[in-house]
Amino acid sequence: MAGFLEGLKITLKTAGRKPVTAQYPEPEKRLEVQDRYMGFPALTWDTDVNEPYCTGCMVCIRNCPTQCMSAQMKDNPLHAEGKSRRRKIIDEFEINLGRCILCGICVDVCNFDAIEMSHEHELSKYERNGNRVDLPVLLDMGRRYQKSTAWQPRQPEKNSGVPPPPKEPAKKAEPIELAQVSREAVEHRKAVMRARAKQRDGSAADEGKAPPEN
Ligand code: SF4
Ligand code: SF4
Repeated sequence: MAGFLEGLKITLKTAGRKPVTAQYPEPEKRLEVQDRYMGFPALTWDTDVNEPYCTGCMVCIRNCPTQCMSAQMKDNPLHAEGKSRRRKIIDEFEINLGRCILCGICVDVCNFDAIEMSHEHELSKYERNGNRVDLPVLLDMGRRYQKSTAWQPRQPEKNSGVPPPPKEPAKKAEPIELAQVSREAVEHRKAVMRARAKQRDGSAADEGKAPPEN
């Protein structure tokens, strides 16, 4: 009887406690993830020039341990117009999130601040390949992540797409007056000749003198 009452007391005590779990899938009952949470990889967007940071360099794809990524680059039309520093830009990008193991290697090896582990973590799909996401979806995921975390690139100066200001044309060297150069050269030559003649006259005068008496 004492055990029963003890058990009932614990039941009544915990019955009034606020639940620590959240009901799925109702959005308003979900728990917020922490800033450091690593969800699925997403591509970042350069708002300064309105294009992705990703240049399609393929480094992340070569390093992905599950080979779940593929990409294709193209010549950047904004670069041709002088509006972006990126010569190449991503054209197609796909990640099969069903095969991604959230290791973060793609983020670590990217030199362009172009990919981040976002806060997206929901995978439930009815189709077998329903988790293959393409470039627009990856960029949407990235934009949501950038907005919610006030994201900033790690190397803003190196990776900004904003083109550098046009260089000022180098100042032309002052044209040297040829006539002036020739005049100076002639004057110099005359001075040298005069000095040599003086030296010669001095030597001749010395030779004409009687030898000193002992
Ligand atoms: S995400 Fe980074 S490493 Fe991957 S292709 Fe784009 S620029 Fe290269
Ligand atoms: S987190 Fe890992 S497994 Fe997932 S795409 Fe990046 S490198 Fe591949």
